[in-house]
Amino acid sequence: MELEARAATFRLAETFVISRDSTDETESVIAEVTHRGQTGYGEGTPIGRYGEDAASAAEFLNECGELLGDDPFAFDEIHARLPQASNTQAARAALDHALHDLCGKLTGLPVWRLLGLRRGGPPTCWTVWLGDPDDMARRAERAAQRFRRLKLKLGGRDGLDLERVRAVRAVTELPLQVDVNEYWTVDEALEALPQLAGLGVEYCEQPLPEGDEGGAIVKERSPVPIYVDEDCHTLADVAVCAGRAHGINIKLSKSGGIREAIRMAHAARALGLGVMLGCMTESGLAISAGAQIASLCDFVDLDGNLLLLEDPWPGVEFRNGVQLPPDKPGLGVESIVSLSAERSDGRN
Ligand SMILES: [Mg+2]
Repeated sequence: MELEARAATFRLAETFVISRDSTDETESVIAEVTHRGQTGYGEGTPIGRYGEDAASAAEFLNECGELLGDDPFAFDEIHARLPQASNTQAARAALDHALHDLCGKLTGLPVWRLLGLRRGGPPTCWTVWLGDPDDMARRAERAAQRFRRLKLKLGGRDGLDLERVRAVRAVTELPLQVDVNEYWTVDEALEALPQLAGLGVEYCEQPLPEGDEGGAIVKERSPVPIYVDEDCHTLADVAVCAGRAHGINIKLSKSGGIREAIRMAHAARALGLGVMLGCMTESGLAISAGAQIASLCDFVDLDGNLLLLEDPWPGVEFRNGVQLPPDKPGLGVESIVSLSAERSDGRN
């Protein structure tokens, strides 16, 4: 097998604001694995705080070509041969997805069929970015026409987080969840969570900083289920998270791809945890990888490609609020040449 990787930049339709950051473009790493004339494609989205960027991810993969061997179905052996370097999760995800895409194309099966899963999962939420309460309500009202649930980004550090939820609740009856992105203290969380329960919020994602000692107390006292995201990366984290959360948010760019994500979903079930599938702002190539396994999850947040000015890898079908994976071999999406297409050097 031959492996090639490159960085790609995608423009967002609007500036994306969460508690720690704002951005108007996003970078991914794209892996291409070729075997007997067939090419599989995969995307991973590096997360800066974990010391990986698109250039380092592409460099890591371009040094791994020799290690792939000649059997695209030998996932365990291929993964075991990769260097055990840290900060390579997005690179590993891109490769894992490219191998799944390739195996699907070689067998003529969509990945969800290859894995024996159902095609459709729960409806995706739409992320309402952090803003002032009126602004979030306006954007929520617009999104409520197309989506069946909303995720509100909180953690404004301005005393207005509950106002944000009230303002949105006043304009829509849709199911709501919130994501604090680690911005509350234990005391703030214990004060806010009962009020969120009163507003009908279904669950709260990552109220506390990763690893915060107060996690167990907040889990015990919260009337709203707690889901952890920044606390939970790979299978090795899931058991620990059971002590501080009612559910986990799996993201393929944290887990290192589909294969580890499935292990995490099953481990979470064994521990009585709920399972959410999240994403980054990324193209349909990565969103398709998530959509293939969405049926394993209780909640799905796969709006990443819908946040782009234009999806350069169309094929995932947004139908009645659900991000449905294509009914085509592999990941089932194809690259298009367009205004936002990658230039020959992989940047735009
Ligand atoms: Mg999150």
